[in-house]
Parts: sequence; C-alpha cells; structure tokens
Amino acid sequence: MMSTRVLADFAIHGLASLVLFPNPYSGRGTKVCWDIEEKHDFSLASRNGKICWVGPADKFSDNIKLTSDAEVMNGNGLSGIPGFVDSHTHLVYAGDRSGEFELRVQGKKYLDILASGGGILKTVSCIRSLSEDEIFFESRERVWRMIETGVTTLEIKSGYGLDLENEMKMLRVIKRLGDELPIRVVPTFMGAHAVPVEYKERPDAFVKLICENWIPKVAESKLARFNDVFTENKAFNVDQSRAILEAGRKNGLIPKIHADEVNAIGGIDLAIEVGAISADHLLKTTSDGISKLVGSGVVPTLLPGTSTFLLETHHAPARAMIDAGLPVAIASDFNPGSCQFSSANLIQTLAMLQLKMSAAETLMAATLHAAHALMLGNETGSIEIGKNMDIVLLEASSYKQIGYRAGENLVHAVISKGIPVFSI
Ligand SMILES: [Zn+2]
Repeated sequence: MMSTRVLADFAIHGLASLVLFPNPYSGRGTKVCWDIEEKHDFSLASRNGKICWVGPADKFSDNIKLTSDAEVMNGNGLSGIPGFVDSHTHLVYAGDRSGEFELRVQGKKYLDILASGGGILKTVSCIRSLSEDEIFFESRERVWRMIETGVTTLEIKSGYGLDLENEMKMLRVIKRLGDELPIRVVPTFMGAHAVPVEYKERPDAFVKLICENWIPKVAESKLARFNDVFTENKAFNVDQSRAILEAGRKNGLIPKIHADEVNAIGGIDLAIEVGAISADHLLKTTSDGISKLVGSGVVPTLLPGTSTFLLETHHAPARAMIDAGLPVAIASDFNPGSCQFSSANLIQTLAMLQLKMSAAETLMAATLHAAHALMLGNETGSIEIGKNMDIVLLEASSYKQIGYRAGENLVHAVISKGIPVFSI
C-alpha cells in the first residue's frame, strides 16, 4: 500500500514532552474540559505556518515529507507547549510610576491616587508629550521581553492618550509593533480608560465625544479590533459604559470590559447584555455574577499579577468559576501602574499561588482560553492540526515546571507561525 506522506517545511522532532488538550473548549455553547495530555517522545510538523502533523517521534519519517528548504529542530530534552496568549495588556506606555508603587506599599489606595491626578493620568501626560517613534521604540523593547518569555499572541490597548490625536498615535504604534515584530499583536481601543482632566467636571460630554466622534474614526481607520471600557466608580458607570460599548459595536468593534475590579457595579450584566467577548479582572464578582456568566460566551479573564501588585488580599474567585464550568483565562494586564509583571511564567506562578489554580489549569487559561478571549481560539492557543504553529520549547521535563520555577525563564525557543523567532 502506498503511504501518503504529509509535506512539511518546518518540524520539531523528538520532544521529551508535548502538551495536547484532548477536548479543547471551542467557544460559546461548548463544554470546558481542563484535561491535558502530556505526550513523550513526540514530534510535530507544519507547512506555511500551520500545524500539519503531530505524532510519536518514531512515526515521523513514515509520515512526513520535508521540503528541500525545511528546518527541523531537535526537541531532545525539551517540552513543547502552545505559545502563550496574553489577552490583556497596556504595554504601549511611557514614563515611570515607581513612586506610586512605593506610595501604595505605604498604604495609599489606587483609586485615591487616580482621583488626585496620579495613576493613569500621569501616563497620559507622558504619552501626550512624546512622539510616535519614541513611544514605538520604548514599547518594542517590552514586546521583545514578552516574546522571550514565550508570548506569541499579544493584545495591546490604547487608553493613555485620552484625546483623539493621542489615542490614534497609540493605535498606530500598536499596528507598527504588529507589522515589525514576529508575533501576532491584537489592537484594542480603550478611549474610556479614565476621564481626562479636561472633562473632569463633565464626564458625560467625554462619553458623548467618544461615542459620536472617536469611535467612528477609530473604526474607519481599522486600527482596532476590540473596544474596551473601565467600568468602575471614579471611572465610567454602567450607563456610560453601555453607551461606549454599544457605539463600538455599531461600528464593528467587539466589546470587552474591565469589570468588578474594585467594586461590583454591574459590569457583568453589562458584559452579557452587549455580548462582550471577555470581562476582565473580576476580583469582586459574586456567585450570582458567576452563574450569570455560565453559557454567556463571555470569557472571564483573571489578572493575578494586578491584584498582587496592588497588594490586594482578596483575589478573583477562580475556583468557583472553574467549578461553575467557565472557560477561565489569565493574562498579565502589564501596565506601568497596577502591574509590572510581564513574564508569562510569573503570571502562571501567581495564578497558582493567588487563584489556587492547578498547573494544567493555568497553562490552558494562558493559552487556549486566552485565545478565545481574543476570538482567536480557532487559530492558536493549542497544538492541533490546522492551527498556527505557535509553540514554545521549554528547558524542562514537563509543563508543570512553568509555575513552579517562578524566578526562572525556562524558554529555550519561541516559534511563531512555524518560524523560530527567539532562541537562547
Ligand atoms: Zn487593563
């Protein structure tokens, strides 16, 4: 019998361990299954950036025909996992807020710092004072540091411009990062990140401006895929948030929401009402909120780096969410004020320590479920035939070392769409 071999232009051969998700969550209406299979002595291959074969190393040559210019990496002693998806960051910023970090250590509250013109508003004045190039070069370094920890898909929000000119400047920087760096960058417009000083006394006028003027222009520019809002006391109330998310939706921007971070003021109900793809933070989400999220299609995205960095003693109720059957995702929330943890490794350590998630749950939350939070669950986030060859090779015997070896970077190589983009 003639065997048909699969043509491949890239392969990783003989991995000590390879992580597969046997029953991956595939979006609204499907069941969440947290099982992980760790295969030993496995290989995988891709063609044009898409995974085309996964199987035992001793079946590799019978099944794979390599193109003449194919690259084959040796997986000996390494563990292969899906590339990390960081579905919530504010990585494009400027300036330093270490002073505020120390103030918080001394007991000052985040919302009080924000109300007194610090916090986000300090970063806003830095962003407004710098050129697009300056912001780009600063941000590019940060993206590289994240790639080195295994991130192959990265969401970045605007929201430190808070006027149209500077929001567009941020969105152009985000686009350029995606164009010039070898991983996927997903852009989110977040004009409603804070009320700028010039609108402090008339926040409704600011909301109207975002809805009627900025959102149509942002949508027309095609520089954003999602539209996010900070629904919180001293930021945007539920009615204001609804107006912003609805205006975005009418213009083709998919809603996301920062909800229940400091106070539960109705962000969960709003997320479900407007069909948000994710609701993020959720520290204060109640059992009632959790039940409402079941079956809603909203991906609950937990940010354990932020609650740790803000010295919270209470963290998001991950266990109750997982028990309820929700596709919990985790992300870094990397930003200059409330979370300076950018390492994908460290975020998983924090998810284990603070959210009491297992190693398997943190890995799936940081890959497949985070991909769903960006509507990319069918393209990346797990090792499956047809998905992007987005893979991280770890110098470790098992994925279980990721969260455990907290202070180390275990990454040996990062492959994005079948191309090695970083290796030690
Ligand atoms: Zn955020």
